[in-house]
Amino acid sequence: MLQNSSILANDSLSVAPQAPASVQTTSLPPLQDAFGRTFDYVRIAVTDRCNLRCTYCMPEEGVEFKHKDSVLNAEETMRIISVLAKIGIKKVRFTGGEPTIRKDIVDLVAGAASTPGIKGVHLTTNGLLLHRYAKDLLNAGLTGINLSLDSMDADRFMRITRRTGVNTVLDNIQLALDMGFPRVKVNVVLMRGFNEDELEKFTAYTKDHAVTVRFIEFMPFDAEQIWGSGDHFASAESIVARIHSLYPDVGPAPGTRTEHHIFKVPGWAGKIAVIPAFTRSLCGNCSRIRVTADGSIRNCLYSDDEYNLREVMREGGTDDDMIALFRQAFADKAIDGYESKKRSDAKVSLSPHRGSMTQIGG
Ligand code: SF4
Repeated sequence: MLQNSSILANDSLSVAPQAPASVQTTSLPPLQDAFGRTFDYVRIAVTDRCNLRCTYCMPEEGVEFKHKDSVLNAEETMRIISVLAKIGIKKVRFTGGEPTIRKDIVDLVAGAASTPGIKGVHLTTNGLLLHRYAKDLLNAGLTGINLSLDSMDADRFMRITRRTGVNTVLDNIQLALDMGFPRVKVNVVLMRGFNEDELEKFTAYTKDHAVTVRFIEFMPFDAEQIWGSGDHFASAESIVARIHSLYPDVGPAPGTRTEHHIFKVPGWAGKIAVIPAFTRSLCGNCSRIRVTADGSIRNCLYSDDEYNLREVMREGGTDDDMIALFRQAFADKAIDGYESKKRSDAKVSLSPHRGSMTQIGG
């Protein structure tokens, strides 16, 4: 399932194991850009592989996945997290590809949760394997789960993902709620002609389920280039208008920095959010860093510039060298996603092409 479902996610920080008072975690200046934004949230892709083959994301045969030696190992991933914690990063989200494909996902979560300075550890998953790990993930300190689900209908789920499993995902959402994970969110990439007609079914789900259903704008990162036709884009504005017309008494609810449009129907258990992932109206609040599965820093979802952290680590670089690379990446960050895209388009022949969201990191 396309992990752009949570691309602009910037959830409020959750409580996780705290560093002992004597441990100094942010002795260095925070990571900032030229526009005064501070970055305190890292999204780390732990694999570019996925157990689904969504039509809008990957061709049926998959994309060319990274050789396993070029994917960061657990030790390298932990080193990145502890280095980032020194410059004020407080929240970690593991993404993919599908992060539960990594056999060591529980260890990664436990390692991140016990890193001094890290206050929240989250996971974005398609939910198919969650039942195998849920208990261990909770015990390891996972504080939030975003489950990507674009259709509740079995046939349509199959058509979109080329796999079966909608009931497994729905059961696993319920499992996460029953187990008491602090935050459970359902990410729906809403597309005209694909699943737009399920908006009401998804919003109605929040009546009895204490989840936030988040409708995400479709973004142009699909290997199949379905985006290119222009036929499938549903704007945040149009989604918000539909929610208001369906539920005239819907009211604003507290959300996170990027859940700018967030609502609750009075008396219902959950919340409904709309994320302008393509419209990019919330770039002023950007606080996120991306690290790809093969160890490159990306300073914006829409930028093709990459800063090769893996090389720095594997060539014996120090923690200071790593911090210097993060600072360089964010000193170069453009003011918003439009500017990033413009710059990347201007030098497209030089940039490594990552055609699918699984290669960018969700
Ligand atoms: S600056 Fe880039 S990464 Fe940050 S919110 Fe805007 S588009 Fe997303």
